[in-house]
Amino acid sequence: MAKYDITYSCGHKGTVELFGKTSERENKIAWYERDGLCPECYKATKRAEEAEKPLTLTIDCDPYQQTIILHFSGNTMSVKDQIKALGYYWGEMPMHGMFGLLATKRPPLVWYKTVALDDLESAMKQAEELQPKLVNHITDVDIITFQTVKAKADEKQAKIAAIKKPVVPSQIAGKKWNQTIYGKSGNKTIYPDGIKTPITDEEAADIEKYLDEKTAYKKAIAEIN
Ligand SMILES: [Zn+2]
Repeated sequence: MAKYDITYSCGHKGTVELFGKTSERENKIAWYERDGLCPECYKATKRAEEAEKPLTLTIDCDPYQQTIILHFSGNTMSVKDQIKALGYYWGEMPMHGMFGLLATKRPPLVWYKTVALDDLESAMKQAEELQPKLVNHITDVDIITFQTVKAKADEKQAKIAAIKKPVVPSQIAGKKWNQTIYGKSGNKTIYPDGIKTPITDEEAADIEKYLDEKTAYKKAIAEIN
């Protein structure tokens, strides 16, 4: 590996790091000087190319996050402020789906927003005023995966909802408590929020019962998850 000072085809100077055989390095240098653009000119060219393309709104979905990803590409420059006003962010395209998880390249910078499936229609309606070309990347496989993931999540939700949540005794509800009951029968105290609070044996039994129920509840939830 070595560094070389070169003059790109755009006339700007820069330094490149090259590897490999001398002949390969020489070829590479020749290419940079003949056809290569400096990073700034390369970016500017890309931007100009993008601006030539029609404004496009692409729809992707992320079944695992149960979201829809909308992003604008093409000539976004002229309508940047409107896009922003519609709640889109400028940033790396969110990873999505199986391929997203496996991607090694950094995602491109785009104007994007993620919405729930239920909000897709209104988001599309809002985008209409910009008259973008529409591209739908959602495949049949995506839809099936989306539904499968949703069904599983719903099932889990239903199971969790079916488990009775223990009722917190009033003495400790909403308070910080070290879960310790002090004293003997007929003379018991607890310290919710650090305040000494005498309790009857019956109240102590209720609180202990609640602690057991809470442990069981947590365990049941953990099993579902
Ligand atoms: Zn340049």
